[in-house]
Amino acid sequence: MKKLLMLGECMVEMAAAEGGLYRQGFAGDVYNTAVYLKRSLKTPAQVGLLTAVGDDAMSEAMLARFRAEGLDNRHCYQLAGAMPGLYLIEVDENGERNFLYWRSQAAARQLVRCIEEDNGAAFSGTDLLLFSGISLAILSAEHRALLLGRLKALRAQGATLVFDPNYRAKLWGKEEAAHWLAQAYGCADIALPGLEEHQLLWGQQSPEQAADFLTGLGVKELVIKQGPERLFVNGQYLAVTPAEQVVDTTAAGDSFNGGYLAARLDGQSPLEAAKLGAALARRVIGYRGAIIEQSQWA
Ligand code: ADP
Repeated sequence: MKKLLMLGECMVEMAAAEGGLYRQGFAGDVYNTAVYLKRSLKTPAQVGLLTAVGDDAMSEAMLARFRAEGLDNRHCYQLAGAMPGLYLIEVDENGERNFLYWRSQAAARQLVRCIEEDNGAAFSGTDLLLFSGISLAILSAEHRALLLGRLKALRAQGATLVFDPNYRAKLWGKEEAAHWLAQAYGCADIALPGLEEHQLLWGQQSPEQAADFLTGLGVKELVIKQGPERLFVNGQYLAVTPAEQVVDTTAAGDSFNGGYLAARLDGQSPLEAAKLGAALARRVIGYRGAIIEQSQWA
């Protein structure tokens, strides 16, 4: 059975609900992708998070959630006295959603220390590893460099490395992000960015320009997302079928990634996989929150 690892942070989510109440869940880009990948895969595989959590009640509940989603927890480091990060989604008077984060002390920021103390044991036997710009943004520069070194070694051993830059201006400056995201692309076989972040960070205005940049960095397979407009899959455009109703676009890109990778692992071509990823993302944005509840999935 293949070992698929999603490296990064999962947070406690508090989403505004009716009557001034908040609904508590768990979310985070690589976790969202892990859930949709696991749910979509036809070929059995071990899908797990490579992350760090604490030993508090919320961390325990998070790990229980991972298990309930069929995810493998053996590479979730549990740190005594630490807690997970938290974010809150509030809706303002204009119906616009705002995200507030409490994540500076999150256990996941210590992930690279855990990996290093274990001498990279978590990577052993990995067939595919997905990481994102958020996985990197929450780390110190020293830890980013250590991690990318480990990922290069893993790739040299034959693992497939997948990267989504998921640029978040709140987490780091433009120049810093542009530097590290380019380094990360240099470790990746498959890239799954959005065109907008390439426009912002490197001034590339078209998918073709972004694709040239990525190919130059050694990326072999790429899908460039352009929201509701279109996808650019290894040089070919694919139209996106607009969603009938957009309820909440949270995790559109993450679910696309999950559906895309599941289809690729099940043997589909990149173009077919992109169609399946887009169909899944279109479904996800019809629901509130990042994760479609299990009861509504089947
Ligand atoms: P993110 O900002 O989360 O990365 P994007 O806006 O790039 O997400 O969208 C990711 C994918 O979700 C798109 O490539 C597309 O397949 C799908 N998608 C996004 N918006 C729509 C929409 N309005 N209708 C249908 N599909 C959509």
